[in-house]
Amino acid sequence: NPLLLLNHNSHNHRHLLPVPAGVRVPPRRVVVTGGAGFVGSHLVDKLLSRGDDVIVIDNFFTGRKENLVHHFGNPRFELIRHDVVEPILLEVDRIYHLACPASPVHYKYNPIKTIKTNVMGTLNMLGLAKRIGARFLLTSTSEVYGDPLEHPQKETYWGNVNPIGVRSCYDEGKRTAETLTMDYHRGADVEVRIARIFNTYGPRMCIDDGRVVSNFVAQAIRKQPLTVYGDGKQTRSFQYVADLVDGLMALMESEHVGPFNLGNPGEFTMLELAEVVKVTIDPSATIEFKENTADDPHMRKPDITKAKELLHWEPKISLREGLPLMVSDFQKRVLEE
Ligand code: NAD
Ligand code: UDP
Ligand code: UDP
Repeated sequence: NPLLLLNHNSHNHRHLLPVPAGVRVPPRRVVVTGGAGFVGSHLVDKLLSRGDDVIVIDNFFTGRKENLVHHFGNPRFELIRHDVVEPILLEVDRIYHLACPASPVHYKYNPIKTIKTNVMGTLNMLGLAKRIGARFLLTSTSEVYGDPLEHPQKETYWGNVNPIGVRSCYDEGKRTAETLTMDYHRGADVEVRIARIFNTYGPRMCIDDGRVVSNFVAQAIRKQPLTVYGDGKQTRSFQYVADLVDGLMALMESEHVGPFNLGNPGEFTMLELAEVVKVTIDPSATIEFKENTADDPHMRKPDITKAKELLHWEPKISLREGLPLMVSDFQKRVLEE
């Protein structure tokens, strides 16, 4: 069928072509809120590379134009400076809702703004999805499990979260965002997807966002001691950003609402992480112990059975393979300081 061939080869004509019955057309118009941030910008790269039209909405609180500058001039890409706490009118097929500061340093900087972003921002994006019939994906977090009493964490676990603590603007905010998402699904028939993301690292993380991977990598490059909080025996599971992007896109295009844990089940203590960073960057790096922060979860590790079975997704890149992939990006940016 010559029409089909044209459909494959030409971006310019694709909107004009009739769609043969039974053929599923990939989505073309996508919004990524928070697309100038760490995860969002990698997602935008992948969506554009598969041929989607992408609109990024970002208020540049923690995001940077540098993360997207390689797409400026691409007519299929658009960047809008906008705060999701305010309503917006757009016409799209898919909404990836990422806008929200993610590192403790950033989300505690202005906790009222963080909870407004989670509640009002998510409400606005769900209102938008409802009005235009778009599919909506929420990037929730493993923090909804709080300081978990179940290990590893399955999606069925309801969590152990302090509602009045310094992290609550973020974890209770995301829990409310999940509630809103399910209520728009049940009450307004919005097609929704929920991802619960576990600690993710990679190029374009904010250097000084206080997260453990960015801290250790930047410290090792700057020849400073690696700061281990508490006794360093608390655990986290670290996922490389490309694996997460694959998981988010698989979830969006799947038939399943979720929630789905998206994370790498490889579990490390902070002392073990420090060892991997030393081996990767500088074996002579030293460790300095510091007091831990309030409400710090003792352990965290995703059970990803559900995502494996229903999304046929699992992470492919181990910590030892992934860390070197962010080092050159960090070295370049530390040198520019
Ligand atoms: P990030 O801080 O790099 O990106 C967040 C982006 O949202 C930034 O570009 C920021 O400017 C933008 N933003 C914040 N508030 C906004 C607002 N009110 N209006 C418009 N834009 C706003 O963080 P990230 O690591 O890329 O995280 C992306 C999403 O993934 C977040 O929702 C976060 O909660 C979630 N998540 C991330 C991780 C992780 O380890 N990186 C883990 C769990 C969940
Ligand atoms: N909204 C938006 N863009 C739209 C549609 C809605 O930003 O295209 C916002 C709207 O301003 C409202 C929120 O989404 O604050 C929820 O919308 P909904 O229609 O569900 O609720 P209502 O407006 O009836 O309160
Ligand atoms: N952490 C650390 N040194 C640092 C920064 C963080 O030991 O320089 C610890 C922190 O106490 C926590 C873990 O690393 O136990 C993960 O912290 P991060 O802020 O990266 O993520 P989250 O707490 O949100 O999982």
